[in-house]
Amino acid sequence: MTRTDRYYITTAIDYANGPPHLGHAVEKIGADVMARYQRRKGKDVHFVIGMDEHGQKVLQSAQAAAMNPQDWVDTIAQEFLQAWELLGISHDDFIRTTEARHHRGVQELIRRIAARGDLYLGTYAGYYCVGCEGYKTKDELSEGEDGTFSCPVHPDLDIQWMEEENWFFRLSAYAEPLLRLLDERPEFVLPDIRRNEIRNVLEGGLADISVSRARLPWGIPWPEDARHIVYVWLDALTNYITAVGFPDESYLDYWPADVHVIGKDITRFHCIYWPAFLMSAGLELPRTVWAHGFVTYGGRKLSKSAGVTFELPEAIQRHGPEALRYYLLREVPWNGDGDITREKFDERYTTELANDLGNLASRTLAMIRKYRGGTIPLGEPRSLDQAAVDTVERYLEAMDAGLLHQGIAAALELTSLANVFVEEQAPWTLAKDEKKSPELDAALASLARALLVLATLFEPIMPEKMTELASRLGVKEVPTLREALDLELAGRGVVQGSPLFPRADLKAG
Ligand SMILES: [Zn+2]
Repeated sequence: MTRTDRYYITTAIDYANGPPHLGHAVEKIGADVMARYQRRKGKDVHFVIGMDEHGQKVLQSAQAAAMNPQDWVDTIAQEFLQAWELLGISHDDFIRTTEARHHRGVQELIRRIAARGDLYLGTYAGYYCVGCEGYKTKDELSEGEDGTFSCPVHPDLDIQWMEEENWFFRLSAYAEPLLRLLDERPEFVLPDIRRNEIRNVLEGGLADISVSRARLPWGIPWPEDARHIVYVWLDALTNYITAVGFPDESYLDYWPADVHVIGKDITRFHCIYWPAFLMSAGLELPRTVWAHGFVTYGGRKLSKSAGVTFELPEAIQRHGPEALRYYLLREVPWNGDGDITREKFDERYTTELANDLGNLASRTLAMIRKYRGGTIPLGEPRSLDQAAVDTVERYLEAMDAGLLHQGIAAALELTSLANVFVEEQAPWTLAKDEKKSPELDAALASLARALLVLATLFEPIMPEKMTELASRLGVKEVPTLREALDLELAGRGVVQGSPLFPRADLKAG
């Protein structure tokens, strides 16, 4: 396996200050679809997710729960792992920043940055948002009528004024190199809108940042200065290399990462801090940072305190985990924001999955049983076969560009075309006339082909259901997209099975 056959994909590691929610799930599902898609293309995929377990906010959550922080993060990590298992996330590794393998890598990265001369001791005085775990300039805060400041992302949290001696990183030296990076490698930040935001920040110049914290009892000790712990973002970002073994040379088997999948709210950390740390330490940069958007519910921010909730267990329960994977990526463009509701979820489940895709499968399999004794016939290609070829091309183009929602839309169009094809061909009429037998064969063969192609297109999104669909066509493993177009289907026995997307699953409310 050569390096170009590898595909290293990560998500942001999740902050261990509460249970997993839909926002976490969207990111994991999207990244999982990207990982499964690349596996389907024959890549040796390494997919890493994990937990960000240090920082003041985690310590405060543990204290609020009257637990010691390690017990707290152990509990939270289990909750996340259970959720990802339920949602079929196919990660190869789950890194936790409290692990020893991570600590030694962080300390080594700091030593290399120090050797470059990019660290110095200074005094920090300024505002700090615990929610962001970040220092804020006045410009980045909202000023209330009473003259107090708050973080626009975390209006409920108090902004703290902090003054302490910290280790500083010479980020100011990296504005120019980072601007050059964006010119030379525009794909470093995608989609484009996110790159433009980063460019604007860089053009305004960068201030040095504090990368240690004094007197916080929860974190990785600063190398050779035990009065400090490592700033949580420097700690957390380094997971992308420690997860693949840094500082052992074997980390180069996977590094640089092909893509870091993150939310658009943390691009500054991933597209400015992280590459600057790596440049300073003399390490290669990831190829792409992909920033997805936010999910709102009925036009409003999901928020417990505001009473806008759609908890992950309920969302999974509603139509099953694979339907949720489908719905979230169908509704929320992978390159922007999206809005969901329970009602729209029910509607898409019923029309697109139960009716369009599920019925197409049931009818096709039933007709092959009824008219051909359950064996897929050999037939001349029909217009639907060409439509399948065209769909695969459009799907590949969309998925390669990271536009998962467009890949799904392409697959849905083929589903619709196949349903129209059934009506036009009317196999039940052809079956009444012995002379039309070759036409009936052709229609059923084309429909079987379309179903196999659909199973392949939808497999990264709904792996279990689509494996089941392929097996009902007598195909044990979902083939690659190219194979799905050519694989010999004639002569295979089909299985009817129960509906793939039962309508009885519809829940009230
Ligand atoms: Zn904040």
